[in-house]
Amino acid sequence: MRRLLPTVRSFLFHSGQAAALTSVAVLAMAFAPAPEPYYAPAEAEMAVPEAPPVTAVARPAGAMTRLIAFVAPLRGYAINSAYGLRRLASEARARQHKGVDIAAPQGTSVYVACEGEVLRTGYDAKGYGRFIEVRHPNGMSTLYAHLSRIDVARGDKVAADERIGLVGSTGRSTGPHLHFEVRRDHAQVNPTSVLGQAFEVEIDPAAV
Ligand SMILES: [Zn+2]
Repeated sequence: MRRLLPTVRSFLFHSGQAAALTSVAVLAMAFAPAPEPYYAPAEAEMAVPEAPPVTAVARPAGAMTRLIAFVAPLRGYAINSAYGLRRLASEARARQHKGVDIAAPQGTSVYVACEGEVLRTGYDAKGYGRFIEVRHPNGMSTLYAHLSRIDVARGDKVAADERIGLVGSTGRSTGPHLHFEVRRDHAQVNPTSVLGQAFEVEIDPAAV
């Protein structure tokens, strides 16, 4: 339509009155409403294809599974104190460090390492400070300590990558950092052996 109009206009300009009238007629035709779209008769819509016979389908043996991944709880900050035996300057002898420390400014967002359910939150003045423990579908749990703020409550379901709190320096801490633990069968394991890993878990039939 748009491409046709300049042609019609130039024709009007160069021709006489009669030709102009013809052009107007052409324009009128061009602007005429489009014909009604074709609708199939109602009868055709009512024709329903015959359903195939129902047959039993054997399901593959074994449970349905999916993968869950564990990722670092702080973004852009590296572990600055490793898991294992260590001796702090303030202490007479070396002690086991049951997690990893990640130094970050006060108020930095702490994300859950993997989807799960909040097992507990609390305040431990002489140790973890404000802390959160989250249980994950593979049976492991993760613990986040020395927080300045807790954004979840016990029983909350948390999705992957959800922010659960903020970095702080509460409890036994000398500066803002996250103390992060991974627990399996109620004992701490080295978080670096779990972060970046994916685990196969069964899909709960009730959740499907
Ligand atoms: Zn620590």
